[in-house]
Amino acid sequence: MNSYSLFRRSRLRLAFWYAGVMGIILSVSGFGIYRAVMQANWAAMEREIESIAGTLHDSVEPLLPAAEAPTAVLQQIFPDLCLSGEACNTTPTLIQRHTIGISDRSTYYIRLFNYQGKLLAFSPNQPPLLPDRLNRSPWQTFRSTNGIRYHQFTTILHSAKARHPANKPNLHPSWGYLQIGRTLAPFDTETSRIQWILATGFPIALLLVAVSSWWLSGLAMQPIYQSYQQQQQFTANAAHELRSPLASLLATVEAILRLPQSNRQNIPTMLQTVERQGRRLSDLITDLLFLSSLEQHSLKQHSGVKPFQPCCLNDLVSDLTEEFLELVTAADIHLTSQIPNSEIYVLGDESQLYRLVSNLIANAIQYTPAGGEVLVSLEFYERSTCVTVKDTGIGIAPSEQTRIFDRFYRVESDRSRKTGGIGLGLAIAQTITYLHKGQLVVKSNPGQGSLFTVDLPRIFNRVESQVKSLNSMDNGE
Ligand code: ADP
Repeated sequence: MNSYSLFRRSRLRLAFWYAGVMGIILSVSGFGIYRAVMQANWAAMEREIESIAGTLHDSVEPLLPAAEAPTAVLQQIFPDLCLSGEACNTTPTLIQRHTIGISDRSTYYIRLFNYQGKLLAFSPNQPPLLPDRLNRSPWQTFRSTNGIRYHQFTTILHSAKARHPANKPNLHPSWGYLQIGRTLAPFDTETSRIQWILATGFPIALLLVAVSSWWLSGLAMQPIYQSYQQQQQFTANAAHELRSPLASLLATVEAILRLPQSNRQNIPTMLQTVERQGRRLSDLITDLLFLSSLEQHSLKQHSGVKPFQPCCLNDLVSDLTEEFLELVTAADIHLTSQIPNSEIYVLGDESQLYRLVSNLIANAIQYTPAGGEVLVSLEFYERSTCVTVKDTGIGIAPSEQTRIFDRFYRVESDRSRKTGGIGLGLAIAQTITYLHKGQLVVKSNPGQGSLFTVDLPRIFNRVESQVKSLNSMDNGE
């Protein structure tokens, strides 16, 4: 499977999981909200029915007659109710209508029963074919013959004038029953409206989630894909760099082996070539291992391991200047350094910092023609310090200045190969700077020279920092 299809499959899988998880979250929360809204509406509706029933009960209670056949009185109290067993012809006057009753006649209906459960009176708008028998359970929901659902509440009706029989005090403690019901048509319409919104909205939301998941997984895969490509490029470059000296080394060895006896005097020269190629290979492998160890170091740092120590940059710069003296004398280059009197410390790995500055000085010497100058200086500011390496060499074209830090990148590779460069020096320098939380920048003009500046965060010198830490321990900080 090639890498493109591997990444495409991973992206698909990621998008699928995103969409799946989002879909589940959406459906669970959608269903939860739907249930909550429905329950809140239902509870509000029941509260309203109960409150109407309570108000009616309290208004009717003092007026209810003690007699068991109270039809005449009932008609006075509820002029807009039909009496059971009589022709229903209620045309109450406006004043009568507002004596006692409920204002919303199209939604609510009332039914009155005596204590034995016999229907006494009812609203004309009650559901058709409702049984005359009393169902005593407080809440009932039913579907009428006209297909409309109703919800009704039954409560006991007490009368102030009702008397219990003396010998049977518990026989019928109530006057009768009041039943209030309402149509559920508006409630059902609202429910189906919400269901419709959910049914159409959910697939649309799911589609949007799927599209955004695909886009998001693409975004998530991008850095991984880039890093994978960089890794592949790095492997290819490393293999290429290893192959060239190895091929040349093998060719030289073969030539030595086939050399006729008469040409034996050429062997030392040819062995020198073998040694040069072998050294180049060894340098390359050392650099690769060093880069990989830097990466490991960076991983360790991210996991909280900090092996850095205070390092004195003054010593580092003067040591390196001394080390390169022999080389610059041979190359006829004037190497000088400017180091301040006060000691400057940074927190870091000394051998890595040596490697960083030595790479820059080596490059400056390599790319400066004979008679040129290289100046290494150390400057410090309140919180930072910088090491600069300035040369009067061949310089770097502006278009190349961002690329020289890439691994294996060489300006005019022929030019660098002649000098033995493999294009890892600045990559290593930049990685070390990054590990030390610093910055490496270049300013250069072709033909005039280059200036490399390493900015590093400065710390107090060793003694000062030790005194500081002792003080803070004494103060219990
Ligand atoms: P190399 O090992 O080839 O020197 P580097 O990573 O050190 O690789 O440098 C990358 C490229 O940057 C080199 O090919 C070189 O052309 C250019 N370069 C680096 N330093 C200098 C400098 N001081 N002056 C001119 N060119 C430089």
